[in-house]
Amino acid sequence: LSRIDTARDTDHPTCAEPLLAGPLLGTAPVRAKNPATGDVIGKVVTATAKDVETALATAKPWATPAAKRAETLRQVADLYEQNFGDIFALLAREAGKTLIDAVGELREAVDFLRYYAVQAEKLDHPARGVFTCISPWNFPLAIFTGQIAAALAAGNGVLAKPAETTPMIASFAVRLMHKAGIPAAALQLVPGEGRVVGRALTSDPRISGVAFTGSTATARQIQAAMAANLTPGAPLIAETGGLNAMIVDSTALPEQAVRDIVASAFQSAGQRCSALRCLYVQEDIEPAFRKMLIGAMNELALGDPWALETDIGPVITETARADIDTYIANAQKSGRLLHALATPTRGNFVAPTLIRVNGIADLDREIFGPVLHLATFKASEVDKVIADVNATGYGLTFGLHTRIDTRVQDIADSVHAGNIYVNRNQIGAIVGSQPFGGEGLSGTGPKAGGPNYLPRFTADKVDR
Ligand code: ADP
Repeated sequence: LSRIDTARDTDHPTCAEPLLAGPLLGTAPVRAKNPATGDVIGKVVTATAKDVETALATAKPWATPAAKRAETLRQVADLYEQNFGDIFALLAREAGKTLIDAVGELREAVDFLRYYAVQAEKLDHPARGVFTCISPWNFPLAIFTGQIAAALAAGNGVLAKPAETTPMIASFAVRLMHKAGIPAAALQLVPGEGRVVGRALTSDPRISGVAFTGSTATARQIQAAMAANLTPGAPLIAETGGLNAMIVDSTALPEQAVRDIVASAFQSAGQRCSALRCLYVQEDIEPAFRKMLIGAMNELALGDPWALETDIGPVITETARADIDTYIANAQKSGRLLHALATPTRGNFVAPTLIRVNGIADLDREIFGPVLHLATFKASEVDKVIADVNATGYGLTFGLHTRIDTRVQDIADSVHAGNIYVNRNQIGAIVGSQPFGGEGLSGTGPKAGGPNYLPRFTADKVDR
C-alpha cells in the first residue's frame, strides 16, 4: 500500500500516506478513479503471477484460540468506527457512496465483525485451512469485511481479492485488520483482475474454500474452476444477483409505498443486488400512483456523493454508464420510456429512470443502475405475477405493499425469495436475526450474518 499515490482531487480530503501504508502484494500499477469526476485518485498495485504464488505458498490458518480471534475481530470493529471519517472519504471517492450509504456500510461491516466474534467462541469444529474471499465493488467495505471476518473467525487464513474498481478501501480495511493483530500470513490482500488473479486464487488446490459475492456468471466459473481440483468438501459460498420485484396493490398506503420504492430502486444508484427492478402496481391505482412516483423521482438530487444534499451518486464506471445509457436509449426507441431526468455530463451519472414493461419476463438481465421497470396487474392476476417472478430463476428479494393480511402470507408462501419485505423498503438485513441471502440463481446460501454461515467455514470433523 505504500505505493499508492496521495490523492489528487483537492476538493476532497486526501488519503494521507499512513492511512494507506502496509504490506500489499503486487507490482503492476493501475489507476483508481473517482466515479463522480473521472479524476485519478491514486495508483494502486495489482498482484503478478509471482505474487499470487507467494500468497498461496505462505498463507496460513489463523492458529490462535477462538477467544483471542473474537477479541481481535472486536478490535477491528472498534478501529472501523474510530476511522469512519477516512472510510467515508474512501467510499465516496472510490465507490461513489453517499453519506447514508457509507453509514450503512460501516454498520453492516461492524455488525458482521461483532456477530462472527460471538459465533467464533461457540464453534466446535476446526478451521478448514485457507479461504479465498472474492468481493464486489458495490459493498466494498461491508461484503469484503463480512467474508473475511467469517473465514477468520472460524480460524482460517484468508487470501482476499477485492474488486478491480475498489482496491483502496480494501487496502485501508486490511491495514486496520493487521493493526488490530490479525497476522500477515493469515490475511493477505491480493488485488488484481478477476479473470487473472481471481481465477488463480480459486483454481488452486491449496485453497480450502471460496467465499464469493458477484455475478451469477462468475460464480459458475469459480464453481467449475474449483471442481477441477476435487479438494474434498471445499465449499463455494456464493451470493449472486437478483431480478427483484415488488407488488403494490390498491389497498397500499400510497405515500409510504412511493417513499419505499424510491429508496429500494434508486438508493446507491440502484447498485445493490437487492434493489427493486420490477414494480407491479394494481391497474386501477396505477395512473395516479405513477404520477406520485414520478413526482418523488423529480425530487432526487443527483450529484457528487461527497455533498451532503446528494441522494444519488454516480454508477461505478464509464463502461457501466454507457451500458445503462444504451439500455435506456433502446427503451426510448421502443416507446417504453416513462420518465428520465437530466444527467450531468461529467462523471458516470445515470439519472433515475422509469421504463414500462408488461412484466418481469421482459427483463432479460439485471441492469445494475437506477432504472426501475413498471408493470400493472389486475386483482385476479396475483398468482400469475408470482409465477412470473419465480420463473426468472433468481430468488433474492421481494417487496409487498398491501393491507390484506392473507395476501402477505399467501405470497410469502409462494414466492421464491431469500428476503421478503412487507410495507417497507426493500433494503437491508439484520445481522444475527434477519440475515441476507437468496435462492436459486441468487446464491448457494447459507445467508451471510445468519447462524448457519460461520459453520460453512469449518471442517466436518470435530476438534477435540
Ligand atoms: P460484478 O458484476 O459485481 O462486478 P463480477 O462477478 O464480475 O461481478 O465480479 C465480482 C468479483 O469477482 C470481482 O472481485 C471480480 O474481480 C471477481 N471475478 C471476476 N471474474 C472472476 C473469475 N473468473 N474468477 C474469480 N474471480 C472473478
